[in-house]
Amino acid sequence: MTGLDGLVIPGGESTTITKGIESAGLEPALRAHHDQGLPILGTCAGMIVCDAEHLGFIDATAKRNAFGRQLQSFEADIAVEGIGDEPLRAVFIRAPWVESHGPGVEVLSSYEGHPVAIRDGSVLACAFHPELTEDPRFHAIFMAMTTSSRSRAKEEAR
Ligand code: GLN
Repeated sequence: MTGLDGLVIPGGESTTITKGIESAGLEPALRAHHDQGLPILGTCAGMIVCDAEHLGFIDATAKRNAFGRQLQSFEADIAVEGIGDEPLRAVFIRAPWVESHGPGVEVLSSYEGHPVAIRDGSVLACAFHPELTEDPRFHAIFMAMTTSSRSRAKEEAR
């Protein structure tokens, strides 16, 4: 897994993804990527996989299916730090929320009082599915993280 500027751990089912990581023996490579400070984006189940009870890449715990199950899936316009004033249409599918987090975690967005987008150092995580809408602004936060980590790496190589 060398040569990656960033890694996306997508939505799906956190139990299945966790088992897949185990059976494919991917954990050391994921840890090496994270240890190098290379950016990671975890969306929905991906946020759960990054949490303190799983890979421990974010100093936060995510509560699975916190907003309810399939029938309680919904869309909402949410305010997100760093994308401008225009709200972001967010698609929540059996979505988690951030149940607790440490002081170093930046909360970029909350919905109904629960954090749904956070950043902890090189890891960006959200409870919704930014890939299901046309709005690129959430991905742009991640792309900016990869650009700055790439230029930092270039500086260090000098
Ligand atoms: N509820 C799923 C889980 O617990 C996450 C759903 C999703 O990624 N849309 O893993």
